[in-house]
Parts: sequence; C-alpha cells; structure tokens
Amino acid sequence: MIQLQSSLNANGNGHKYYAGIDIGGTGIKCGIVDETGKIIAINKCPTKIDVKLAIEDISMLIADLQKQTGITIVGAGAGCPGIIDSRSGVVVSSSNLRWNNVPLAALLKNALGVPVRIANDANAAALGEYVNGSGKNYNSIVMITLGTGIGSGIVFDGKLFDGNLGAGAELGHEVIRYNGEQCACGRRGCFEAYASATALIRQAKCAMDKDEGSILWKLTDGDKNNLNGKLIFDAYRLKDNTAIKVVKKYTDYLAVGVVNLINSFHPQAILLGGGLCASSDVILPLLKKRVKKQIYRGIDYAPVEIVVAELGNDAGICGAAALLF
Ligand code: BGC
Repeated sequence: MIQLQSSLNANGNGHKYYAGIDIGGTGIKCGIVDETGKIIAINKCPTKIDVKLAIEDISMLIADLQKQTGITIVGAGAGCPGIIDSRSGVVVSSSNLRWNNVPLAALLKNALGVPVRIANDANAAALGEYVNGSGKNYNSIVMITLGTGIGSGIVFDGKLFDGNLGAGAELGHEVIRYNGEQCACGRRGCFEAYASATALIRQAKCAMDKDEGSILWKLTDGDKNNLNGKLIFDAYRLKDNTAIKVVKKYTDYLAVGVVNLINSFHPQAILLGGGLCASSDVILPLLKKRVKKQIYRGIDYAPVEIVVAELGNDAGICGAAALLF
C-alpha cells in the first residue's frame, strides 16, 4: 500500500525526483524523493531472496509509485546490508540477503531504465540523516543503527567514507571483547554481538532464566520467544530489577563501542538509529553518562553530541536517493 508522505508536486514544476530503495533482510521499501531529500511517497513489500524476483518486486513498487503520484523518476539509489562496491555497483557479499557478487546496479538500471547507484544500507541511512535529518547541522557524523545487526555510516564534509572498494565502515564488527560472544560474521566479541537489538534480546532471555519473578515473564505471556526490545524497555520503566540490570549492562557495552568510534573519528555528532531508538528516552541518558566518563581526554576540547536519528526507518530511502544528488 502506497503511503503519501507529502503533497504531490508533479514533474511539470521543474523538480527532479529519484527513487530511494532500502533492501533489508525482511522487507524492501521504495520511495520517491525530491532533490532536497523530501520523501513524497513510500511503497513496500517483503524481501524475496531470489535476486530476479526481488528486482521484479522493486520495479513493480516503483512503477506503482510513479503511476499514483504522476511523477517520473530520473535516477534511483539502493541501500543493502553487507559489503557493497558502490563504484562497480556490485553487492560483493551480504550475509543477511545471502547475495554474493550480484551486479545490483546494472540489474536495476536494466529494469528501471534510469541511472542507478548503490551503497551499504547504513551508509545510505547516514547520508539520509546528513542531508535531511538529525545530521544536517553538522559537518561530520558517524551513524550507527541498532537493529538485527549494527550498521554504521561515516559522513565527513558531505562525503561518505566507505573504505577501499566499499569494504570499510563496518564498525559493528569491531571487537569489543576478545574471544567473546560469537558474531554472525564469524569472529567473536564484535560490537554487534553485544549491542545490537538481537544481542540485547539474547542478554535479557538469559537474565529471565535466572529470575522467575521478573515482570518480563508477564509481558511475554510466559514465553521467552515473545520477547522484543520494546518489552525490555517497558519492564525497565516498570522498575523490574532484572530489566534494569540488563539495560544497564547493555548500555555499558554500547558505550564501549561508541567511545571506540569517537576516539577513532571524533565527529561532531554520533547519530543513533535503528529499532531500539524507539526507547531513546532510556538509552540516551545512560549512554551519555558512560561515554562522558570514558572518552579519551574528556570532551571539553572537542565536543561530540550523541543524538537520535530523526528520519527513523525512512533514513535509508532518503539516503539511497541522495546517492544521486
Ligand atoms: C552488516 C552491515 C549492515 C548492518 C545493518 C551488519 O551485520 O555487516 O553491513 O549495515 O548489519 O543491516
């Protein structure tokens, strides 16, 4: 179902419009975006792992969007998890999508008939926030997305930094604990294995086993499989001791990773995105307190703000389109 985000401005007005495509492990979201980064309309569907079928779905979503809005796009950008070589337009390796060496930009160009650029999903989200979200008042930002994994994007002076052949800026795979928890990438102890939403849920399930009286049991109807990030923060707000311990420990891990990023890049702002940020009222104060204590030489010399990404789930669409302008 198409969601209109903004009043229609058909192409007759001289504006240029782009498609922004956010390809995730579970869903694909496409939007029509104007050259200022404003999203006009969004259309989505579940992700099909078969590349050919996924491209057909994307073409259909975008054709519907163009028909409903009366707008013709002049280019398209797409964000995907994993290592994306944005120069050659190839998805080199995406464990979430199980795609390897997929020439995505060429396939999309063929299907949509417009120039196409692609990037890592979190890089696209960071660019979106930089262009039209919480990053727009800063020259330098590092964004991390706390979801199934931890995605990250680095934008300095309007330029995305993604390393040689797009293989860099994978900050979720920095090790924060030697020989620690197993990460999906094959290494142990990655930031993602401790501070993603998946990791938080794993930590809370473990803690529930040790506390039969935790409110978390009530909130999950007695079944740990019903646990999600929101319920953990709900239990925290209800002052459940186990949830409080879990959330505090979780923000300890998050702070270690965030301090590493600050010490490496020292941007003007760290942006937090991803599903867990719906509970930023709990996360932000705990995180800021911990980061302040640990940051190299303190923050008096070069301040760094920690803010919540404001475009939410739409950052990826906006940033994917922004790859073209
Ligand atoms: C992947 C990243 C991706 C992130 C969020 C991580 O597991 O390594 O490439 O950006 O998940 O989807």
